[in-house]
Amino acid sequence: MDKRWARPTLRRGLSAEDHIAAGLQGVRKRVVAAAVRAGRDPGSVRLLAVSKSKPAAAIRAAYAAGQRDFGENYVQELVQKRAELADLTELRWHFIGGLQRNKARHVVGVELVHSVDRAELAVELAKRVEAEGQRLSVLVEVNVAGEAQKSGCAPEALPAVLEVIAGSNALRAEGLMTVPPAVDDADEARRFFAELRALRDRHASALGRGELSMGMSHDFEVAIAEGATLVRVGTAIFGAR
Ligand SMILES: *Cc1c(COP(=O)(O)O)cnc(C)c1O
Repeated sequence: MDKRWARPTLRRGLSAEDHIAAGLQGVRKRVVAAAVRAGRDPGSVRLLAVSKSKPAAAIRAAYAAGQRDFGENYVQELVQKRAELADLTELRWHFIGGLQRNKARHVVGVELVHSVDRAELAVELAKRVEAEGQRLSVLVEVNVAGEAQKSGCAPEALPAVLEVIAGSNALRAEGLMTVPPAVDDADEARRFFAELRALRDRHASALGRGELSMGMSHDFEVAIAEGATLVRVGTAIFGAR
């Protein structure tokens, strides 16, 4: 793990806003460098700033520094921050957390839901989005390592979830998302990222843009090497939670 940007301590003399801008700039540089090392166009990797548990002011600071895509994990936080930050007209919200069916209506209107992981949730989301006369882009979250107690569908269950989405006019599947097992060395996550990419390739015809949402603060460079198109970074931008 690269500790430079994960370190929660404030650098002396920097305001909280400057600290976030510096964190963002450091992560952007690392994203570009990782893409170049992998022989990829840096423009093919989108940085998502994960702002869970961070106040609206932190999001404003990142927005002022040019960040536009933000990820939230909890419905209640999303609803509250969406209202508080409605004046930031170019801000795009992503929902990346576990979603209960009875909260599905609250994510209607976001840019992308990364965490559709079961057919029943897709059915409910489709119903809610349709009722609002809208469309919603989603990713299917896959538990590639088959960890118990972890969100994400089993790779074998992916076709059934995709079938529900394909049968709805309201939902569009644009790719896959995963959170690999916690490992000490980011390189150990590589095979899980490669597995998600292989699944994406196998189901490419049902996955629109073929997005791969994978990689967090401690492993986004490895994820980019394995084809990530969306990296979800919190701590390395905003500091420890
Ligand atoms: C919290 C979270 C992140 C960001 O994690 P960091 O280690 O802070 O970068 C990314 N994805 C998901 C699903 C998360 O819950």
